[in-house]
Amino acid sequence: MADSDSKLKSNSNVKRSEDFNEWYNQIVETADLCDKRYPVKGMNIWRPYGLKAMKNIDKLIHAEMEHTNHEEVMFPLLIPEGLFQKEADHIKGFGGEVYWVTHGGFNELDERLLLRPTSETAMYSIFPLWIRSHADLPLKTYQIVNTFRYETKMTRAFMRVREIHFFEAHTCHADFEDAEAQIKEDLDIMKSFFANLCMPYQANRRPDWDKFAGADYSIGIDCLMPSGRTLQMGSCHQYKTNFSKPYGITYEDVNGEQKFCHQTTYGMSERLLGGVIGMHSDDNGLMFPKLVAPIQVVIVPILFKGKEEPVLKACREVEAELSAAGIRVKFDERDITAGSKYYEWEQKGVCMRIEVGPRDVESGAVMTVRRDNRQKEVVKRAELVEQVNAILDAYDEVLWQCANGNLESNTHRANVIEAVEGKSGILELPWCGEEPCGLAVEERLDVSTLGIPTEEVAARIGGGEVCPVCGKPAVSWCRFARTY
Ligand code: ZN
Repeated sequence: MADSDSKLKSNSNVKRSEDFNEWYNQIVETADLCDKRYPVKGMNIWRPYGLKAMKNIDKLIHAEMEHTNHEEVMFPLLIPEGLFQKEADHIKGFGGEVYWVTHGGFNELDERLLLRPTSETAMYSIFPLWIRSHADLPLKTYQIVNTFRYETKMTRAFMRVREIHFFEAHTCHADFEDAEAQIKEDLDIMKSFFANLCMPYQANRRPDWDKFAGADYSIGIDCLMPSGRTLQMGSCHQYKTNFSKPYGITYEDVNGEQKFCHQTTYGMSERLLGGVIGMHSDDNGLMFPKLVAPIQVVIVPILFKGKEEPVLKACREVEAELSAAGIRVKFDERDITAGSKYYEWEQKGVCMRIEVGPRDVESGAVMTVRRDNRQKEVVKRAELVEQVNAILDAYDEVLWQCANGNLESNTHRANVIEAVEGKSGILELPWCGEEPCGLAVEERLDVSTLGIPTEEVAARIGGGEVCPVCGKPAVSWCRFARTY
């Protein structure tokens, strides 16, 4: 165990500031988040520390869902081929990414089964049995499960994997307007959820050529990584009746008429953790936002021969007091140097540490050190919980400001392509709305189209802007970026 750990750690020699992508590939293992040595490509092992961080993110999702009256469900992993084939665009979009189960024991199955790449087709075969009348609507469900996609692109821990820890919300509504109101609620959920991750983002309406398979339209949630590439952290989709028609999801309205439901979905995944790792970190390692951090506070005793006992006693008291206040705290009693403890917990993104030495015990205080800027502060034991909470809040605020500063200073708006050529980050250009012009920009700048900003102010054309490709009047601003 110790051997393999030290082997992994000695490989970590790339600095984040020098090679972000390689640094990322290493830190996920050196910080004990996952183990990539499992012998199936793109299927990694969640180590306890990484799983705790993910579960903390899940907790935030559960809270948002409960708050907005979504109910949790759990659908089977296997989907019969016949169900999956019902929506033509959907199968076109996912067909090449599906894992098939063809045998049960030694027997070839009459009908092939697939591992869910997402659960529309599983859920929508059952929703008609649950929905009878307008009184059953809206139906708001969600689940957090594993999904499977046979990725052909290069895999990357948490960002692009073949077995995905996945969140999906599925809703059914009486009409288009109510479904639109759901999308608005999704955008509100995003706002509070991503604030908790200290992650600024942009919600962009994807162009038609890049919408979700089967959707009327899709909104992508894009975060800008320090590498200058964006990472899609989630998406929501307006389906209108595209799925309810083939799956027969109908309801009886107030006049006794049968009508098709309008549907939406909202999806996110373990990429959230990948995004947190990428966005909040420095050359010393990770910086977990307080609500994500598996350990928020680590206590390190500063020991001198003959004076150990009062220090250890004080450490235990501090641990008990913080723990009782709901703070995730660890007392690191290991017999290694304090310096190597600092190094390890900084790398693992613990928000702050508390040092306790003999003199601190005598003066009834502790020394606090923040992860982000290593700022030290003496805190009186009598004010411990209050001060630790204040430091954690200030730390989160810095994470947010730092990420937001990066997004703002790397978003470039211009009227002509030449002005953004060679720039990294998010590029905003006026757009006529036509696909060939969007694709021309993609090719010219070697970027992908993120789409039209969902914030009206950011999308609105001021006056007179023209499409830089065809010269026709622009209908909105459009965002482009290199993506993961
Ligand atoms: Zn154009």
